[in-house]
Amino acid sequence: MNTIEKFNSHVMATYGRYDVVMEKGNGRTAIDENGKEYIDFGSGIGTNSLGYCDEEWADAVCAQARAVQHTSNYYYTKVQADFAEKLCGVSGYDKVFFGNSGAEANECAIKLARKYSFDKYGKDAERYKIITLKNSFHGRTLTTLSATGQDVFHNYFFPFTQGFDFAEANNIDDLKAKIDDKTCAVMFEFVQGEGGVIPLDKEFVEAIFEMCAEKDILTIADEVQTGAGRTGRFLASQNYGVKPDITTMAKGLAGGVPIGACLASEKCAGVLVKGTHGSTFGGNPLACAGGLAVLNKVGDDGFLAQVREKSEYFREKLAQIPEVESVDGLGLMIGVRLKSKKAADICKVAVDNGLLLLTAKDKLRFLPPLNITKEEIDKGIDILSQLLK
Ligand SMILES: *Cc1c(COP(=O)(O)O)cnc(C)c1O
Repeated sequence: MNTIEKFNSHVMATYGRYDVVMEKGNGRTAIDENGKEYIDFGSGIGTNSLGYCDEEWADAVCAQARAVQHTSNYYYTKVQADFAEKLCGVSGYDKVFFGNSGAEANECAIKLARKYSFDKYGKDAERYKIITLKNSFHGRTLTTLSATGQDVFHNYFFPFTQGFDFAEANNIDDLKAKIDDKTCAVMFEFVQGEGGVIPLDKEFVEAIFEMCAEKDILTIADEVQTGAGRTGRFLASQNYGVKPDITTMAKGLAGGVPIGACLASEKCAGVLVKGTHGSTFGGNPLACAGGLAVLNKVGDDGFLAQVREKSEYFREKLAQIPEVESVDGLGLMIGVRLKSKKAADICKVAVDNGLLLLTAKDKLRFLPPLNITKEEIDKGIDILSQLLK
């Protein structure tokens, strides 16, 4: 049996996969089992923020594997302390809880927000409702599916978690109408990723923060995809000049090892106390070592300035392709609407031609490694332009 046959015999068929077996990578190039090379414009859905085998990152993870690979959260580790200190420093948050994925980071945020209101207003106030946005994506666990504002995700797995309502993105009146006495939080992505790379309007974001401040409702930013430098700032919130009470991060934060982080501002940093939340693997030393190596680069203003500069370059090149109808997004999180061709079809032929792409709804989506070079952007765009002729 070859790898693909073996895989399909034993792994649940929850994904549509391309017929490619990835074996290794180098920089921004992925290499399959036959030695074929691919320019990577997807970075494993935004996880490999420093590409493949970044030297400092790989050294840090390997050294940690040879020291302590894991210990229970009943003990302290230096690497978790160092990573937490650095993460709070660059993000401007007071405290962090570590999990292993974006969904877990969001679960933590939801629990934190509900307990904040429970502690302050009591059980009888029933202040448990969380407003999220239509067309959002917050994860695959039952509660984060419930939080996701898309009907296609609300199937099969009944009953879903109660207490979520959905407002239309960029519609201030609709948000105002959905907020009531039972609302404890509003949760949103600054740029809806899976929903089609759609940034929120500045006025709408300002309205969220005004309404929430008025009623002691917590703001939760899901920065699982937009965080860790992806939008040209360490957090997407910095592009909007706001500071959410809670920010969740995951995908690119540790450079490709599983991680999730729920960051809380001073106002709500003390809500989750002993016994109220936990995770066996959360704050795992390998993940923290990877995360620290990412922050040592991505936490630097010069690095982020380069992300912004490459974003401009990337977007200009995309806009020059005749088949491209529009270019949207923020930083190196880019969505492209095509005029007549189907994004999913282009992704498929791109693989055959040595280019890894993503889709988001009916758009092409680009989440390249943050340290991609202009030469690599040129090389990938050349392949794409040919395919779009
Ligand atoms: C990917 C994603 C998630 C889910 O993250 P997992 O690590 O797959 O659980 C949640 N929110 C957003 C915005 C995402 O992009």
